[in-house]
Amino acid sequence: MPELPEVEVVRRGLERWVAHRSVIDAEVLHPRAVRRHLAGPEDFVQRLRGRHIGTPRRRGKYLWLPLEESGESVLAHLGMSGQLLVQPHEAPDEKHLRVRIRFADELGTELRFVDQRTFGGLSLHPNTPDGLPDVIAHIARDPLDPLFDEDAFHRALRRKRTTIKRALLDQSLISGVGNIYADEALWRARIHYDRPTAGLTRPRTAELLTHIRDVMNAALAVGGTSFDSLYVNVNGESGYFDRSLDAYGREGLPCRRCGTPIRRRPWMNRSSYFCPRCQRPPRAAS
Ligand SMILES: [Zn+2]
Repeated sequence: MPELPEVEVVRRGLERWVAHRSVIDAEVLHPRAVRRHLAGPEDFVQRLRGRHIGTPRRRGKYLWLPLEESGESVLAHLGMSGQLLVQPHEAPDEKHLRVRIRFADELGTELRFVDQRTFGGLSLHPNTPDGLPDVIAHIARDPLDPLFDEDAFHRALRRKRTTIKRALLDQSLISGVGNIYADEALWRARIHYDRPTAGLTRPRTAELLTHIRDVMNAALAVGGTSFDSLYVNVNGESGYFDRSLDAYGREGLPCRRCGTPIRRRPWMNRSSYFCPRCQRPPRAAS
């Protein structure tokens, strides 16, 4: 599943290749890919025709294309395997091509939504006054957003009876931190995933946020992580950050700080990877 850095890489690709182009036509090849557009595939296509794409935007893992002068946006759900590809018209259709968007210019490329498992999709939504598609108005700012409020985040952590990794994955508190980056940032900060948030000090919260931003920026610098050959960026190139992960996916391998084998524990239908020596479990849970 793509996380914030992967989605940002796709956003940048879209900004480079599809921003400020006018849609001449769209084609829905599989209705499931537009199921979140409740008015149906024909309405989706009709409302796209003739629209100008603005600068693609992102909050957390949510990505959308604002349609200029319409007050609407195309929200892209990448799901487990969704890809947005900019391809030359003559490129053969991908096996799992779901939606094609053509433009009224001579650049020779089109936008394709390809999704093997079809958990993702595209849908049109009215914007809030902040320019967010209304269905994601409740999503908190992400830690790379210059307007992210660290004090408010810290106060929310202190107030909540929760544990740190649950809080990091709570999209109403902080968006865009998924399982992989949570494990990486917690390893860097030497915090066990089950630690209660109520006891975190303000400097500790600040330190953790710094690690989250560092690990995301490092991933961004190399084009996002790639755990799945299905994930490719807008130009079809895989990220390769997975080679430099410190905790995630390294069960049994030595911790790069202390040499203790990294452990994996089942966690909320997923896994948590941690160093049992650097990241001591909280007393109540040990
Ligand atoms: Zn260690």
